[in-house]
Formats: sequence, C-alpha cells, structure tokens
Amino acid sequence: MASKKYSRREFIKKNSLTGLGLLASSAALPTIAMSGNSSDRSISQDSTFSGNNPDVPALLGGTPVHAKGWTEWPRWIPETDEKRILEVLRSGIWSRAKVTTEFEQKWAQLIGSKRCLTVVNGTSALIAALTQAGIGGGDEVIVPPYTFIATVASVLMTGAMPVFADVDRATFQIDPKSIEKKITSRTRAILPVHILGLPADMISIMAIAKKHKLVVIEDACQAWLAAINHKHVGTFGLAGCFSFQNSKNIPMGEGGAIVSDDEEFMDRCYSFHNYGNAYGSTVGAVGGGTVMLGTKMRLSEYQAAIGLAQLVRFEDETNIRNENAALLKAKIEKIPGIIPYKLYDNVTRAAFHLFPFRYDKEQFKGMPRSTFLKALSAEGVPCSSGYGTLNKEPFLGHAFQTKNFRLMYPKEMLDINRYNEANQCPENDRLSGEAVWLSQNLLLGSKQDMDDIAVAIEKIHANADKLKNS
Ligand SMILES: *Cc1c(COP(=O)(O)O)cnc(C)c1O
Repeated sequence: MASKKYSRREFIKKNSLTGLGLLASSAALPTIAMSGNSSDRSISQDSTFSGNNPDVPALLGGTPVHAKGWTEWPRWIPETDEKRILEVLRSGIWSRAKVTTEFEQKWAQLIGSKRCLTVVNGTSALIAALTQAGIGGGDEVIVPPYTFIATVASVLMTGAMPVFADVDRATFQIDPKSIEKKITSRTRAILPVHILGLPADMISIMAIAKKHKLVVIEDACQAWLAAINHKHVGTFGLAGCFSFQNSKNIPMGEGGAIVSDDEEFMDRCYSFHNYGNAYGSTVGAVGGGTVMLGTKMRLSEYQAAIGLAQLVRFEDETNIRNENAALLKAKIEKIPGIIPYKLYDNVTRAAFHLFPFRYDKEQFKGMPRSTFLKALSAEGVPCSSGYGTLNKEPFLGHAFQTKNFRLMYPKEMLDINRYNEANQCPENDRLSGEAVWLSQNLLLGSKQDMDDIAVAIEKIHANADKLKNS
C-alpha cells in the first residue's frame, strides 16, 4: 500500500471515513496542500511531518503557534531591584517607617491625590475606606456582580448590604443605567469597580451620586494609572482603593492603598489602620492614647521597598500594555465570533490587568467556550473564562445568617430567595458565559507575540469543525 499514490481529495475522503484516523489525517492534510507535488508522496511518509505542521491545531497534535512562553510574573530584576530591599533588611527597621511613607508619597503624586495610605491588602483598603466613609449596618451599597469576591465581601464586612447593579457587556463595567434603578431610601454609597483595569463610566456615576447624595468609593484594585480624560481612576469619588497583591500589575506579595483628597477622611483611615491612634502619632509608641476605634492594617518596610522597585518601570509597562492591547484588539476583532472589550470614549489610558473579549460560539461551529479555551492554551496562549455570577453565590446567604446581620436587618431583608430575585443581573449571566481573558503579562510581549495570539485564534476558527468535539 505504501506505493499507492493518493490525490488530496481521495485522501480527505478516505480519512473522513475512518474515525480513528482523525489525528493523523488532520495533521497530514496541510502538508500535502503545501507540498505542491503531493502525488509523489505516500500517506505514511506525510504523516511523519504532522507535528511540524503549523495549521494543525495543537490540541489535535499540531505544533503550538507560540511555544516560547511569556514574560514571567512577578518581574524581579536583581541588579536594579534588590538595593532598597537589602537596605531595609539590614537596617532591622521592618515595621512601618520611612520607606512606607516614601511609597505613599510617590503613589499619591503619581495618581494625583493629596494623600495616600498603604494598608496590608486591597480588601483592607476597601473595608477601611467604606467604614471611614460612615458606611455600616442598615446601609445599602451598590456594586457590580462582575468583580472579584473582595469587592462584595468588604461591603458585607462593614455590615452594609450589597445591592447588585447589572453590567454593560460591551465594556465589562457596571452599567450606570442599572445603578440608578437600584437606588432606595437605604442606599448610601456606590462602589464602582474598574474591572480588568478598564475604567468604569465615572462621569455618569458621579452625576448619579451627586443627584442622590451618595458616597462613591472606587475599587481601582486592578486599575493603577488607568485614566478618564487624563484624570486617574481612584480620584473621582471620595476615595480610591488599590491592590498590590502578587498577581497584580504592581506586585508586592500583599499590599494595598487608599487615596483621597479629603484630609479628615484620610486622618481617620490612618487611625483606623493603626489601632485608632491619632494620625501623626509615632508608630510603636505605646500608651499614646487612641482617638477612635481602630484595627491594625500596616504595610511593612520590605513590602514598600519591593513596591518602590516596581514603580520605577510601571509607567513604561503600562504604556506597553496599552500599545499591545490596541494592536491585538485590531487584529482579533476581524475574526468572526471574537468581540473584544470596548473602552468608553473618554478613556485616555487603561491598566489592562486583563485583556478581555467575548466569544460567540455560533461563529465557531457551536464549539463550547471550554473547548476554545483548551485549544487556545494548547497553542501556547494561556487564557481563562474569568468571573462568574457573584450575585448568586452562597457567601451572601451565609452573611445574612450571621449574628450581626440578624441584629441589624428586618427579617424580610435577609430572605435569600427574595434577595436573589431582587438582585438578578441577566447581562452579567450572559457575560460570564461568554468572556475570555488573557492576563496582563502577555501584553508585555513583542508585536510578534501579539501576532501569534491572533494567528492562534484564527487557526482555531479555521479548524472549529475538527476541534468542536474534542
Ligand atoms: C485584587 C482585588 C481586590 C482585593 O485586593 P487584595 O489585595 O487581594 O486584598 C479587590 N477588588 C478587586 C477588583 C481586585 O481585583
């Protein structure tokens, strides 16, 4: 049989009849197509080229489009980054002191805020900001469902009730029109999230807040240096909260910050993060006297030293992410069934903690998103499905059963079925079923790397028929 010659058409016909031949046949096809003199080759010879054929999906045994990996995260460059942290370690001053203050001053200056206070993480930044804005038991705070659990958990930790406004699927952000519909006599605050590092529509949100006299605390935990009309997010509301957790664009292991122009509010946040001791009192002074109830959320000196090293290159990294995101978006939006994020018209810069797009399986022969994700990962492009439906998760019912909530709210407000009914977010249900995320470190690659991502998606699109049942 090895001597028998096959034309390409005969080859396809033969192999489509043999289920077992799927891998070998799909691998061999494009080699024949490209060889130009396929009639001189036998099937058995062709099948030995399968692994090198760029047109065979990697999930089906082909060669990945991008095999060389991506920028590792977090980035740490010993020659430039280690000096400050070694100084801290050798000084023995590890608890909050000068280096932490230096980081706070730099961050306030970069963001364009009067004040910055660092805390142990972004979740604590949110809890401190909410409580010091006077939010607590009996209040309602409007939040999006398309966010990290910490946004909603911090509202519950203050004793307030989260109320979910739906999202705009095109931008992935909280929808201002939905916010307005959720305002009741109990509403005290809006907690917009600049999710994925893309700015929420702060102009509309601030107008709603002003009209209804609501406090705005921005969850900018993924949106360092993102801006609307050149004004950084985190500076629109009373306060902005940031995270410096290890996966974030400014990684310190753990860390967070609050920024605000309101001096009295920031004095209270400072006290709250330092046992209730007055702002300006020396850290470590015992028996100085407290001015209010507080807890302890202080950043340490070596975390601040790591942060300062990251800040040196942060502006450049942010620009590279923006350039590459724009490039990648322009390439992939041409592929049927790929709908990249939309930025509001007034957005001048995003942080791109993630690069999101929506996946329409109808344009991929009905291939489920989970298969698309597997196929894209196999091509060497790590990806994920992103957030789910937070508004329906069990932590809410659990919070309502705690002693504090049972003391603070009338029984009917803690009826979880009633709550779930009132907090439905159909747009978010759809979005969480169709989103695909690429993480920020991919955007630190070269233009060629962006090309690879687009080629990988095109390849999956072209082979959707073969891939959909794998
Ligand atoms: C990471 C994150 C937080 C919490 O920050 P931590 O530092 O992990 O506590 C809050 N909100 C959003 C949107 C985040 O991504």
